[in-house]
Amino acid sequence: MKPHRIAPVLVALALAACAASPPPKPQPLPTPQPLPPPKPLHNPLAQWRPSPNHDPRNAVMIVLHQTEMESAEAALLTLQTRNLGGRVSAHYLIGDNGVLYQLVDETERAWHAGASRWGGVSDLNSASIGIEIDNDGVEPFTEAQIATLLRLLGDITWRLDIPKHLVIGHGDIAPARKRDPSALFPWKRLADAGYGLWPRAPLAPPPPGFDAWAAMRLVGYDLRDPEAAVRAFHRHYRGNEASQWLPGDAEILFDLQKQLMDMPEPAVVPITTPSS
Ligand SMILES: [Zn+2]
Repeated sequence: MKPHRIAPVLVALALAACAASPPPKPQPLPTPQPLPPPKPLHNPLAQWRPSPNHDPRNAVMIVLHQTEMESAEAALLTLQTRNLGGRVSAHYLIGDNGVLYQLVDETERAWHAGASRWGGVSDLNSASIGIEIDNDGVEPFTEAQIATLLRLLGDITWRLDIPKHLVIGHGDIAPARKRDPSALFPWKRLADAGYGLWPRAPLAPPPPGFDAWAAMRLVGYDLRDPEAAVRAFHRHYRGNEASQWLPGDAEILFDLQKQLMDMPEPAVVPITTPSS
């Protein structure tokens, strides 16, 4: 067998075994190949039902909705398709039987908030996780879906490091346009489990000169339509939709303001740069 026909591997072995041989010529390093993109994280608590209606962003709060449709299946169809009424989606949907569906990766920006504002954030789609709850707007929320919601809130506030008090309603961030979730939504129940901002009993009367509007703004409400903002506040904290101040509102707002001002972390929502 002529030397040039020896298999390359044998040449390499011979060179390695012979200390006196000249070192092999340095070979150019292979061109680095890009790493494959990380696998999208889908929550094992939920059934993955992907929706195409999203783009990238980071979440710093959680927005709750009600579907105002007759069933979770009907809502899934709307959230997974390019429907004529405008493309909408959410990260999660909770059926009235407590089944949890995930439609969009948490790392992506779902289209659930629309024109909205909370504190310093005006692009809520870029800043939030959206959770739709199967509810027609007039029926009570079921025990099974609230139990699932609490489990999901515990999971995503922990994993995504979202402040627990920043769990709010669509009607809170878009008071002139949206009324969901309805006044029947059990915000107090969520607060008892540690989610959302809620007044602490016993409530104290506010000091003279207390500015309820300033407290509303600190909580996060958009005051460009003051009556709509008060209606949203009442829907969330009083279980009604009155658009004028009610006895007891000032005490609630004074306590909410105090809680926010006492927080060691920034009390208001951090300003984010909206992605396109
Ligand atoms: Zn909504």
